[in-house]
Amino acid sequence: MERAKERLVQWLKDAHAMEAQAETMLKGMASRLEHYDELRHRVEQHVQETQAQAKKIEQCLDRCGAGTSALKDMAGKTTGMGQALSGLFVGDEVVKGALAGYTFEHFEIASYQALITTAEAAGETEIAEVCRGILKEEEAMANWLREHLPVFTRAFLAREGMDQPAKR
Ligand code: MG
Ligand code: FE
Repeated sequence: MERAKERLVQWLKDAHAMEAQAETMLKGMASRLEHYDELRHRVEQHVQETQAQAKKIEQCLDRCGAGTSALKDMAGKTTGMGQALSGLFVGDEVVKGALAGYTFEHFEIASYQALITTAEAAGETEIAEVCRGILKEEEAMANWLREHLPVFTRAFLAREGMDQPAKR
C-alpha cells in the first residue's frame, strides 16, 4: 500500500503536467480557429474544465501530503504523447487539430483509469472519486469530438471546394 501511495503521488504529478500541456494546446487551438465556431466553443469549454482539473489534482496531492511547490517546474516538462501531438495542434489545420485532440483525450482517459485503480490500491477512495469525475469530462470531450469530426471534415471540404479559407 505504501508503494501504491508513492506511485499515486508520482502519477498525480504526471497528470498535472499533462493537464498543463492540455491547457496550452487547447488554448492555442481555440485562438487560431476562425471559421469553426462550434468547435471553438467546445474547446474553450474544455479549457475551463482542464484548468479546474489541474486544481483538483493539486488538492489530491495536498491530501497525500505531497508538496505542490515543485509542480511549476514540471509544467514545462511535456509528456511524450503531448510532444508527439503538439505538431498537429500547432499545424494550423482544423481536421488535424481535431484528430490530435481526440487522441490526446484518450491518453487522458487511460491516465485517469490507471490513477483510479492506483488510488483504490492505496486506499485513497476520495482521490479515486475525484479522478472518476475528471474521467467523465475527458470521455465527454472525446465523444463530442468523435461525433463532430465528420461535421468539421465536411465543413472543411465544403469551404475548400468554394475556395474559401478552410484551414482554420
Ligand atoms: Mg484533462
Ligand atoms: Fe481533456
